[in-house]
Amino acid sequence: MSEREMSVIPEDALRQSGRLAQKNNILAAKIVAETIRTTLGPKGMDKMLVDQSGNVTVTNDGVTILKEMQIEHPAAKMVVEVAKTQEDEVGDGTTTAVVFAGELLKQAESLLEKEVHPTIITKGYQLAAAKSQDVLKNMAKHVTIADVDILQKIAMTAMTGKGAESSKETLSKIVVDAVIAHPKRESIRVEKKVGAETSQSELIKGVVLDKVKVHPGMPASVEHAKIALLNVPLEIRDTEIDAKISITEPTQMQQFLDMEESMLKTMVEQIAESGANVVLCQKGIDDVAQYLLSKKGIYAARRVKRSDVEAISKATGASIVTNLADLSTTDLGAAGRVEEVMVNDEAMTYIRNCPNPKSVTILVRGSTEHVISEVKRALEDAIGDVICAIDSRYVVAGAGACEVEISKQLHVYADSLSGKEQLAVKAFSLALDILPQTLAENAGLDPIDVLAELKSKHDEGEKWAGINVFTGKIMDAFVEGVLEPISIKSQAISSATEVATMILRIDDVIAANRTEE
Ligand code: ADP
Ligand code: MG
Repeated sequence: MSEREMSVIPEDALRQSGRLAQKNNILAAKIVAETIRTTLGPKGMDKMLVDQSGNVTVTNDGVTILKEMQIEHPAAKMVVEVAKTQEDEVGDGTTTAVVFAGELLKQAESLLEKEVHPTIITKGYQLAAAKSQDVLKNMAKHVTIADVDILQKIAMTAMTGKGAESSKETLSKIVVDAVIAHPKRESIRVEKKVGAETSQSELIKGVVLDKVKVHPGMPASVEHAKIALLNVPLEIRDTEIDAKISITEPTQMQQFLDMEESMLKTMVEQIAESGANVVLCQKGIDDVAQYLLSKKGIYAARRVKRSDVEAISKATGASIVTNLADLSTTDLGAAGRVEEVMVNDEAMTYIRNCPNPKSVTILVRGSTEHVISEVKRALEDAIGDVICAIDSRYVVAGAGACEVEISKQLHVYADSLSGKEQLAVKAFSLALDILPQTLAENAGLDPIDVLAELKSKHDEGEKWAGINVFTGKIMDAFVEGVLEPISIKSQAISSATEVATMILRIDDVIAANRTEE
């Protein structure tokens, strides 16, 4: 057999090599970018996603769209990964990262057509990405947790044009208060409750439970709450015990009931002695125990979800008690107030004003499930952005300002390089234009005119010149408060570059023939 005829992979494997493989991979990545491009920016459009069971999601959120699209092509999947990385690392800027990755590949394509080797292109892209990070750092402004005004603008920028738009002022205050109370993403719970207006969403320095007090005789509200958090049932009629009792005479029945009552009494005494005035129980609470607790003026809720119990523990400092005999004053958690509140015809338990809570809750309100879900996604972007700003300590202006400034400085930098890498750095600089261009396009503006005007402002030294998508004019994006943490931009640049170079390095796709299962 000659070398040509011999095959080392299965005969039915699908194989694409060289330029064809590259072309198809680039095409697939560009299609993904093109699909979500129209959602970029405050004037971006929404997508309606319908899953296999007919559930509808209307969203503007890049990563949500890509997750639901069930993309199959391997190179397109790599681009979706960029969005996921961006989401995990910084929580926002997903559309930006994907659109930029698509454009880097588009620009690379014309270099490939001019016979520039992929290795040169990837080298140039890496140089350009590193230089972009320097430019970003040099233009950024310092921010700390004390700059409440800047933090609120960051939250507002993240929500502009999203479902949260109409009440972004209120919501951005809530977001910043939540982050200042506890600047860790996992400590901020976002809960949804249909009913009321979005502007009635609120921050609770504590936890909101979908639970009612178990007995009408209990107080509707307890000030200076001392909370016992129990993972033990306040009931006796446990099958284990039932099995051991055989009742033969009516008197025995009475004795049994008396005994049961006295055991429940002991339990309630133990709770009262600890000083608790609120009991939140992961298990059940017997009717008699409910009555006895209400007699003592103790507020109680039962069958509290485990995840809620953990959040309450974090928020109030209560330890989760599994043996009532062990319950002591030191196990109790503290909250300024625990109360039952009617929300949209349903009672809920609010645990409010916890001192130094390690967990806080934002209760999102809105007229329908669809509205609330989109508001929740926008809020989560805003929370992520504010935390990122505090963590990365630097802030930049958006609205295309950063991208145009980086592009300008890259162009100068390219001239300092020799050989074909210079072409790749210039291609990278051109690729950045897609972001301001798309912002303009989505706002119904002429992208060419806007870009030209923007560039001339930057040439005049106005590094924060950006697009006011509402008026079509050029504005100082910093002064206008379109602010973003530096890490969104730097992460978008690095992850887009990473995936573009990864795709460019592939010159062979060998796919096993997937047989029907
Ligand atoms: P991403 O998923 O990338 O965060 P978005 O749809 O949230 O996409 O759009 C982010 C882009 O919108 C950023 O470039 C940001 O600077 C820009 N942007 C946000 N608010 C404004 C505004 N008020 N005016 C102009 N551009 C804005
Ligand atoms: Mg965003």
